[in-house]
Amino acid sequence: MSMDKADTATIIDGNKIAAEIRVEAKQEVDELLKQGIEPCLAVVLVGNNPASRAYVGSKVRACEETGVRSVKIELELEATEQELLDEVEQLNQDPDVHGILVQLPLPHHMDEERVIEHIDPAKDVDGFHPENVGKLSIGIDCLTPCTPSGIPELITRSGIHMSGKHAVVIGRSNIVGKPMMNILVQKGDRANCTVTCCHSGTDHLANYTRQADILIAAIGVPEFLTADMVKEGATVIDVGINRVEDLEHSRGYRLVGDVDFDDVKDVAGAITPVPGGVGPMTVAMLMKNTAKAARMIHKLS
Ligand code: NAD
Repeated sequence: MSMDKADTATIIDGNKIAAEIRVEAKQEVDELLKQGIEPCLAVVLVGNNPASRAYVGSKVRACEETGVRSVKIELELEATEQELLDEVEQLNQDPDVHGILVQLPLPHHMDEERVIEHIDPAKDVDGFHPENVGKLSIGIDCLTPCTPSGIPELITRSGIHMSGKHAVVIGRSNIVGKPMMNILVQKGDRANCTVTCCHSGTDHLANYTRQADILIAAIGVPEFLTADMVKEGATVIDVGINRVEDLEHSRGYRLVGDVDFDDVKDVAGAITPVPGGVGPMTVAMLMKNTAKAARMIHKLS
């Protein structure tokens, strides 16, 4: 008798889980409103990058849906770094603003690190300020980056146990890979993993990825991860968002992840699609972070 091919993977529904999280965020916002606190997120956009503009638009829409007040500040591409720092300072000082997000990437004449460090860590809803990065790494409750924070939610809300599992992260960026490692290694049911981080300097990458129970790809290379790199039954989380030319689409491109979905889905136990996996979670977690920042600033539990 020939061996049957493994069943195809469970598709993790990021849209559905993100909708659940937005409902929870709205409940948290309602609780704050009852106490006379209107959570407010300020989003700062520099220049006219279409992708950044689209991200900012989806963040503002999520605010409307969850009852968070949003303030959008737009600076010309030619604005100086000092002008941006001055805007951030005003938001830092404004007691009615609880979250500040400077949309990245910034134009080349601005120093992203300096701008991030200027944001009040208490309002740093992106979780990129060195104070929050440090707190996360030593396990102190803080504001944590939205994209990696959504990933344990996707996994555990799909009924997959994380504690004790071997998680392999591909990518070491400050936005995804490194905070992902720091989240996965913490104690608690939504983490407690043994963590390996691979990156562009890793030799024999597949030797590590094939050992992963949970495999997280944050590489930025379209369809990089193939079935031969994945252990049978692994949970595969695809963070990648890449545009590849596709003249059959009206926009002239389609979005693909860092995982070759059609190849890997026959080996993985569970997998996130692109779009509709990690992407929608990022904005949902931003709403949670804004409510959390408002609670922390007002010293509510
Ligand atoms: P980045 O370019 O800053 O980092 C990519 C990482 O991949 C690097 O650390 C590098 O070491 C590693 N890498 C590159 N080539 C490799 C190779 N051949 N082998 C092993 N490792 C390799 O990117 P990023 O900001 O971390 O984003 C990663 C991807 O996630 C991108 O596609 C980005 O668009 C996407 N992203 C999605 C969301 C979301 O909301 N879903 C948020 C942020 C980033």
